[in-house]
Amino acid sequence: MSEQSIAVSIKDLSVEFPIGKTILGKPTLLTAVGNVSLDVPSGSFFGLVGESGSGKTTLGRATLRAAPISKGSITFRDREGEQFELRHMSSKREKAFRRNAQLIFQDPYAALSPRMTVRDIIAEPLEVMKLTKSRAETDERVREIAAKCRLNVEHLRRFPHAFSGGQRQRISIARALVTNPSYIVADESVAALDVSIQADILNLLKSLQRDMGLTFLFISHDLSVVAHTCEMVAVMYLGSLVEIAPPRILFTEPLHPYTKALISAIPSLDPDHRQKAVKLSGEIPSPVNPPPGCKFHTRCPLATERCRAEAPQFRDYEGHKVACHLVEKGA
Ligand code: SF4
Repeated sequence: MSEQSIAVSIKDLSVEFPIGKTILGKPTLLTAVGNVSLDVPSGSFFGLVGESGSGKTTLGRATLRAAPISKGSITFRDREGEQFELRHMSSKREKAFRRNAQLIFQDPYAALSPRMTVRDIIAEPLEVMKLTKSRAETDERVREIAAKCRLNVEHLRRFPHAFSGGQRQRISIARALVTNPSYIVADESVAALDVSIQADILNLLKSLQRDMGLTFLFISHDLSVVAHTCEMVAVMYLGSLVEIAPPRILFTEPLHPYTKALISAIPSLDPDHRQKAVKLSGEIPSPVNPPPGCKFHTRCPLATERCRAEAPQFRDYEGHKVACHLVEKGA
C-alpha cells in the first residue's frame, strides 16, 4: 500500500493518564494505549474491536486529538493530500483539522440537546466553526446533508424527543457530516440500537462512505457487526494491538488466542459451534498495573514461561499482523 493512500498513520502511540501520586510523589500512570502503530487507509471502513477497557475508544479519540498523545505520533492526511502531525499543528491547521475529522457518538439519546430543533443541532458545527456566511447558506447545507442522511425538511423543525433511536442516530450522523469531513470515528455507533435498526444505520454509513469518499474508524465490541462492514479489522487487548487482518481471513483463520476467543463467543445457532466456544477466564487486568510479558498471559490457555517474561512482537504472518510467541506453532 502506497504512503499516499494512508489517511491516519499512528506510530508507536501511547496515551497515558495521571491518576494520583505514589508515596514518593511520582504520578501513577494509567496506560490506556501502549506503543500502538496502525495505518488507516484513505476511503476505508476500518474496524477496531476489543472488550470494554481494551483502549479502543481512547485510541479513536487520540486520532481526533480528543485524548492526549503521551508518546509517539499521529499523522493525518486531509482531502487535499496535505499531511501533518497532530501534535504539531498551527491554530489555522487545527481549525481545518476540526472540520476534517469528526466523531459519531454511541448514544443517540444523550448526544442530542432536547432543547434544540434538529435544524439547530445539525447547523451548530457550521456556526461554531464559522463555515458559512449567512443563515440561508447554513440552511441550504443543513437541508443537503439531512437529505443524504434520509431526513426530510419536515424533520428539521422538530425536537429530538419526537424521533426513534434510528432517526436520532441519523441526526447525529448528519451533524458529524455537515462540515464535509474526510475522516469519521464512529464509536459504538450502532450499539444502542435494535438489531433491525443497526443494519439500516450500517447501510447508511457505507453508502455515505462511498458517496462522500469518507474514511471510517469504526469502533465496536461486537465482532458480528464489523464482520460484514469493515475492509480491515484490528483487535485490541489492554491497550495493545494483538491482531490485524481483513475480515474474510480474520473470521475464518484467526491466529491470536484472544481473537479466537472473541470470534468463538459470537452467538450461533449451530450446536457444534457452541461446543467449540473458547471461554476466557477472569477479567481484563488493570491498565494501571498490566501483567509483564504478553499482557494476555493471565487469561491465555496456551501461556508458557516465555509468555510471562517476554512481550511478543507485533509482526506480519500469512496475511495477518499478529502478536503471539506461538503463532508458528498454530496457537
Ligand atoms: Fe498466549 Fe503466549 Fe501467545 Fe500471549 S504470547 S497470546 S500468552 S500463547
